[in-house]
Amino acid sequence: MSGNAIEITGLRKTYAGQKGAGPKEALKGIDLAIPEGSVFGLLGPNGAGKSTLINILAGLVVKSAGTVRIWGFDQDVNPRQSRAAIGVMPQELNLDPFFTPRAALEVQAGLYGVPKSQRRSDEILELVGLSDKAESYARTLSGGMRRRLLLAKALVHSPQILVLDEPTAGVDIELRQMLWSNVRKLNEQGMTIILTTHYLEEAEEMCDEIAIINHGEKVAQDSTANLLGRIDAKTMLIHPAEDVTTLPEGAGMEVEKRPDGAIAITYRAAHTSAEDVLAAVHQAGISIRDVKTVEADLQDVFLELTRAG
Ligand code: ADP
Ligand code: MG
Repeated sequence: MSGNAIEITGLRKTYAGQKGAGPKEALKGIDLAIPEGSVFGLLGPNGAGKSTLINILAGLVVKSAGTVRIWGFDQDVNPRQSRAAIGVMPQELNLDPFFTPRAALEVQAGLYGVPKSQRRSDEILELVGLSDKAESYARTLSGGMRRRLLLAKALVHSPQILVLDEPTAGVDIELRQMLWSNVRKLNEQGMTIILTTHYLEEAEEMCDEIAIINHGEKVAQDSTANLLGRIDAKTMLIHPAEDVTTLPEGAGMEVEKRPDGAIAITYRAAHTSAEDVLAAVHQAGISIRDVKTVEADLQDVFLELTRAG
């Protein structure tokens, strides 16, 4: 293999128009290589095409053009091997309400042709913390438990690559932490992880490398550290001595009054100096009780790269 778990070239997807709408170009020619062993983040605003891409990898959506290689296997040439290499935890909670978690895992294992002697249902239920619910109907499980069951289903055939589509959207902190500790553990065991998330801090914390897609096109791909270094936006956070009536103004400064009374001034270090910012603050007649600067985070990079669209 090339050292890449996934290699995508020229990937396009056009959905047929729905209800009188024209066809929808969800992916417009994406090239993407995902290194083996990484935790890889796929980021993009709603409608960017993340789920479409992931569902193509999972074999749930048929691409319109391009090539997809999973673990070295071309999806069109070796569909069975490429499918066996990947496990997908989908965004939607599509579970059969009448299956118990153990039955759901057994059925899934059957679909993937895992022989009975090699099934690991109990071990996987243990991993996701569902051992005590192994015999409960899926419809009686909480939303969080259903999500954990979806993760379990993605693991039954011991794939080399695990894909999670917005696994923590709308879940509580406890479940989020559990999912991430599972992900870290699996990655330490050598599994390549691909995830989409809306929580940028999470991508920042979890991912080695990130691709950002917007309107069906890749707008950036880099190590998380490089991506963060790419932007020179800084925010100066000023706590005024008294309540402020006039906000400071200045070219190249974005000024915002926070609910706690602090004034946040975002500026580009290449164009505006900290001194300019402080001068604008004094000009507005504000006396400063406390001041600190905050470096750009992924949110800034993300806004910068997706604003143009
Ligand atoms: P994301 O996961 O990044 O939010 P999606 O891949 O779900 O984005 O959607 C990308 C675009 O394709 C959106 O404009 C969406 O409305 C459209 N789309 C997704 N699924 C379908 C479908 N089955 N039929 C038609 N259009 C679709
Ligand atoms: Mg999606």
